[in-house]
Amino acid sequence: MAETLAEAVSRRRTFAIIAHPDAGKTTLTEKLLLFGGAIQLAGEVKAKKDRIQTRSDWMKIERERGISVVTSVMTFEYEGNVFNILDTPGHEDFADDTYRTLTAVDAAVMVIDAAKGIEPRTLKLFEVCRMRDIPIITFVNKMDRESRDPFEILDEVEEKLALDTAPITWPVGRSKTFCGSYHFANNTYRGGDAQVEPIKVNGPQSVAENLPENERQAFIDELELAREACRPFDHQSFLEGHMTPVFFGSALRNFGVRDLINALGAYAPPPRDQVADTRTVHAAEEKMTAFVFKIQANMDPNHRDRIAFARICSGKLERGMKARLARTGKQMGLTAPQFFFASQRQLADTAYAGDVVGIPNHGTLRIGDTLTEGENLVFQGVPNFSPEILRRVRLEDAMKAKKLKEALQQMAEEGVVQLFSPEDGSPAIVGVVGALQLDVLKERLQGEYGLPVSFEMSRFSVCRWISAENKDDLEKFMTQRRGDICRDLDGDPVFMAQDAFSLRYESERYPAIKMVAIKEYH
Ligand code: GDP
Repeated sequence: MAETLAEAVSRRRTFAIIAHPDAGKTTLTEKLLLFGGAIQLAGEVKAKKDRIQTRSDWMKIERERGISVVTSVMTFEYEGNVFNILDTPGHEDFADDTYRTLTAVDAAVMVIDAAKGIEPRTLKLFEVCRMRDIPIITFVNKMDRESRDPFEILDEVEEKLALDTAPITWPVGRSKTFCGSYHFANNTYRGGDAQVEPIKVNGPQSVAENLPENERQAFIDELELAREACRPFDHQSFLEGHMTPVFFGSALRNFGVRDLINALGAYAPPPRDQVADTRTVHAAEEKMTAFVFKIQANMDPNHRDRIAFARICSGKLERGMKARLARTGKQMGLTAPQFFFASQRQLADTAYAGDVVGIPNHGTLRIGDTLTEGENLVFQGVPNFSPEILRRVRLEDAMKAKKLKEALQQMAEEGVVQLFSPEDGSPAIVGVVGALQLDVLKERLQGEYGLPVSFEMSRFSVCRWISAENKDDLEKFMTQRRGDICRDLDGDPVFMAQDAFSLRYESERYPAIKMVAIKEYH
């Protein structure tokens, strides 16, 4: 019998992996894809890794864009479920991209290095997940190496993240003697992921037999203690973001990855409801709705094509259908939506709520855009962060000013930089959250548009989006402060200030003007 829409939606699991660089995110992704049959050989993802440590690394990646884009989303099937992994850039200079991607997931896997525990980026990313109540599954990686005591790791998660932990499995052995995991609830042992089915065991004693003799008693005692001291898993609490199930393993040596996939299938939620301006949209509704959270351009430098990554929020997307673009009210044909696998892309004939499709276009779609089957609604919540760095772009060849204007507009539409046009007609200002983004801008202007540029300090260093209850107040303020007002890409007004001090001073002086650091796309 054909699958109903509700059934198709209910087996989708869309998630991101959050981790501090080096914890093992790439290795784990690779193994998830491997077990899902999406790649033949582990190592394929590694080659495409977006490891950005230095400027030259990034540039190299940029040059290999056709490859790196594949890692933006990866789909695989495992035991009846369809998994969509959304990749997030590793480097914190691209934090805005990461935050936007996290608006498109229903769950996250938090990878922790067993020797290092919670590291700064893990904490930061966790906080974003918490803001959005995203349920988190924890994978303690690198158990095959010298590691901290499991109890210590659990304590650290509880303390630093204020998150209850419930170990679902327990590591058998440490570093050299690490040989598998024991599953508390099922009373099973799995000696590595090559073993598809775990084996039923006869209590801790029989599991301990996998260890050298001198470690057995300690393991039995530890398991006893874990059973007594640790919390049982509470599914509801997990879904609400208060509790994380914990797995121990080694992505590199193939331990614990199957447990993790099974947990994603069993515990992680199917596509969530999404809040739009007029109502809440349920995933299993008939009509298709989607929003764009990422744009990747120039995958083929010969054609200025762009791929807009859209998360489907409800219904079914079928190739060839028409969708209404909320921002303009116009219809657009979805003639070539694509799915991404590890090493290839494929035309998507049908995609369901929870799935992410790439929509090729020539600039029609922007970050934050909503697509529907006709209904006039707009999804909320894809954030735009006020930039930390503001610069003027200096063009070496003044004759090319018009070309630069166009190029900057395109870069801004892709979310590479933010673009602010001063009301007084002076040259545009670009804003970024991290310095590497400026490097990317420079490199791409040169490489793709033949525009050599440099950056100059602007007299402004901070900016805020402004609004007011009363339109007159806003207009008055904007007239009085004309030299400090810009428009962003959407035409929304932005107040520019010299520094944080003067920003505070002005906001106190004009209490009727609301100044915000985060704008949600509309
Ligand atoms: P990412 O920066 O989080 O994507 O981390 P990678 O997946 O690139 O891993 C960083 C390093 O740790 C690489 O050298 C991996 O081979 C290594 N690594 C990843 N997982 C494991 C593991 O389970 N055990 C050991 N010993 N090394 C690992």
